Amino acid sequence: MSWTDERVELLKKLWQDGLSASQIAAELGGVTRNAVIGKVHRLGLSGRGQPTSSIKRQRRTHSTTVRRTRTVTVGNLALKQTVDVLPETEVQPRRNVVVPIPKKLSLLQLTEQTCKWPIGDPGHDDFHFCGHNSLDNLPYCEYHSGVAYQAPEPRRRR
Ligand SMILES: [Zn+2]
Repeated sequence: MSWTDERVELLKKLWQDGLSASQIAAELGGVTRNAVIGKVHRLGLSGRGQPTSSIKRQRRTHSTTVRRTRTVTVGNLALKQTVDVLPETEVQPRRNVVVPIPKKLSLLQLTEQTCKWPIGDPGHDDFHFCGHNSLDNLPYCEYHSGVAYQAPEPRRRR
């Protein structure tokens, strides 16, 4: 057989379509696989099959990060205020005073000598007063006077 123009064109077409040499030989008929390969080489079609993935990946060269040394302007240290942290004076709870057990006096039972510290809900039947002996000139007992008149700060001795 001979390579007619039609067969050559068919060969090119099939080759470009991606058929293998043996498939093309079978398609054309009358030619061997080697004959197809030889013809392809002569036609300069052997460049087929270059995978596009062979394109070199352009690797980015990591740009070296230029670190700038920051010049920090430090203020005048003389202007820095020195804060004197004073130790907080803790208010000592009165531990020596025991919470008295209320005598549960009613309002009518209160006298000038009884503690008038209310205990409970005034609208409730269980409402009562402390009833312990009150301090002089004070309406409350020692304990409740301490609660009622608790000084926010202990007096400082100067
Ligand atoms: Zn009391």
